Amino acid sequence: VSDYTPPLDDIRFTLDHLCDLDGLAALEPFAHADPDTVHEVLAEVARFMADVVGPLNANSDEQGLELTDDNRVITPDGFKEAYAKYVEYGYGAIAFDPEYDGGGFPQLVGVVTQEMITSACLSFSMAPLLTQGGIEMPSEHADDEQKAAYLPKMITGEWSGTMNLTESQAGSDVGALTTRAVPAGDGSYRITGTKIFISFGEHDMADNIVHLVLARTPDAPPGTKGISCFIVPKFLLDEDGDPGVRNDVTCVSIEHKMGINASPTCTLSFGDDGEGAVGYLIGEENQGMRYMFTMMNTARLAVGLQGLSLAERATQQAVEFAHERRQGTAVGAPKGEQSLIVEHPDVRRMLLTMRAQVEAMRGVMYHNAQAIDFARHHPDADERRRWQETADLFTPLSKAWGTDLGCEITSINIQVHGGMGYVEETGAAQHFRDARIAPIYEGTNGIQAMDLVGRKLPMRGGGVITDHLDTMAGTAEALTTAGGDLAGLGEMLAAGVDAGREVTTWMLENGFEDPNDALAGSVPFLRLLGIITGGWIHARAALAATAAIAEGDGDTDFLKGRLATARFYGDHILPEAQSLVRPATAGSAQLFAANL
Ligand SMILES: Cc1cc2nc3c(=O)[nH]c(=O)nc-3n(C[C@H](O)[C@H](O)[C@H](O)COP(=O)(O)OP(=O)(O)OC[C@H]3O[C@@H](n4cnc5c(N)ncnc54)[C@H](O)[C@@H]3O)c2cc1C
Repeated sequence: VSDYTPPLDDIRFTLDHLCDLDGLAALEPFAHADPDTVHEVLAEVARFMADVVGPLNANSDEQGLELTDDNRVITPDGFKEAYAKYVEYGYGAIAFDPEYDGGGFPQLVGVVTQEMITSACLSFSMAPLLTQGGIEMPSEHADDEQKAAYLPKMITGEWSGTMNLTESQAGSDVGALTTRAVPAGDGSYRITGTKIFISFGEHDMADNIVHLVLARTPDAPPGTKGISCFIVPKFLLDEDGDPGVRNDVTCVSIEHKMGINASPTCTLSFGDDGEGAVGYLIGEENQGMRYMFTMMNTARLAVGLQGLSLAERATQQAVEFAHERRQGTAVGAPKGEQSLIVEHPDVRRMLLTMRAQVEAMRGVMYHNAQAIDFARHHPDADERRRWQETADLFTPLSKAWGTDLGCEITSINIQVHGGMGYVEETGAAQHFRDARIAPIYEGTNGIQAMDLVGRKLPMRGGGVITDHLDTMAGTAEALTTAGGDLAGLGEMLAAGVDAGREVTTWMLENGFEDPNDALAGSVPFLRLLGIITGGWIHARAALAATAAIAEGDGDTDFLKGRLATARFYGDHILPEAQSLVRPATAGSAQLFAANL
């Protein structure tokens, strides 16, 4: 089992050359977050993730969780202690509102922190991840009293949060949920029903668990229009605001899963002992879905990051293994000598397929994160709107393209290991097993693709996607004009953007006559956009690395490495974009003609 080393070189390069840290620091709330401070904070977080959280990953997977007879969940050895330190050092609070004791850093910095904690141990990272959703939504929509009661402790992490959407008949179809919320006459509600698959719905790491629960009030209209959102704390707060009486919410079982074995996935029963668990309405009745949408982009980006994080860790492990394992004789090596497998072209191809896509994902996701920051805080309304469009467009790409790649790249890691990848002892299998959930939760990747064609493509009549294609075409042009050995990357990016244009035009012209046609092509379309947006990141990285080398600014070896992966991406990854035009525009007739 290999250690996790936070990739601070690549993180720094991505932040300094592909993001706008100075622009963020110029925004009023982030004046203290100048680039030097940001890098210092991240270096400190990196040490913690490598030294404290990373070592928990393999053991906790093996040990798993225990549900006691009195319905408590015991987390694996080391989780409680590591979590207490995480809270003590304030890492959970980095990107939250200083008014409630947050660190007030940009979302972008929170996202980098999240990348590292997730690479270190995905199961462990799920507690802060769910808490983040539990903070964000009430921050926007809860009343001041609720905010004062819950947010400070959730921001420090002393109390954790959960998101309670799913029920057995209501998965992707959230509108089918039936959990009931009845007014109790004193301003509170009584919640009854059963939620399934609730991550960290019960555990022993925090002093209280604040469940956000979607439920229906007695006169609610059917479907998503009749959903309200409630705060349901595990322990009701006493007069001093401290955890007091136990609320009527019980973890009745935990799932046995293929991965994230140390993240409790709970069935929660509300109101087993009487008239219901005590819940407090957030905002107004029947507005729950609208409120959930305000945190959708950050939640989906956070899950997209899980793809990046595991792909990063898998890539590190594969490169390390390829430098240790000897098999076969590489071309040109002395006869009879076993070469390191890293000398074989196909192994190098696998390693670069991993690394080049990890770099592309990091660039896309950090861009997505800074778009959220600028959309929230830019002083100019037009800029805010423009960045909001970018965040909206990038989010399904980060989520679906990113988590699909998470599965593919962790699978390649197993391949690089050969048979040793398939046995549990090396830990390669764990990354693959862990990665497999990310395309499923927080809106399956199929649902993300529907979001892309159904909501994102129609933004400004296709103008948002077209603007993004134009931007990428401009970068491709800059590379082609610069000439030299980057011209090939420019050509492949230009060809990929043309492919994206062809599908966009087809979708806009034909896709909506029969919605099945657009839906049938939605997944290939999303992948195509992901691939070319990754190519755009590499193109910008290549231009920046070339300039930095010319100026003698930075580690030349590292910069040359980035140029090499950029060119590799152009030859080996970008061409797939063109092959996706046909499936994206084939329509749905064949799908319904075949017998299933
Ligand atoms: C480990 C784990 C942790 C989880 N954590 C949480 C949590 O903390 N809180 C929470 O509320 N939920 C959680 N979930 C639930 C998760 O969000 C759901 O599993 C997910 O939304 C999918 O719902 P489903 O399982 O019912 O699948 P279904 O909705 O039944 O989907 C099955 C398949 O049908 C496809 N499909 C469904 N509808 C459509 C459609 N309209 N068009 C095209 N394709 C469609 C899907 O893409 C999928 O491929 C978790 C699940 C797991 C396994």
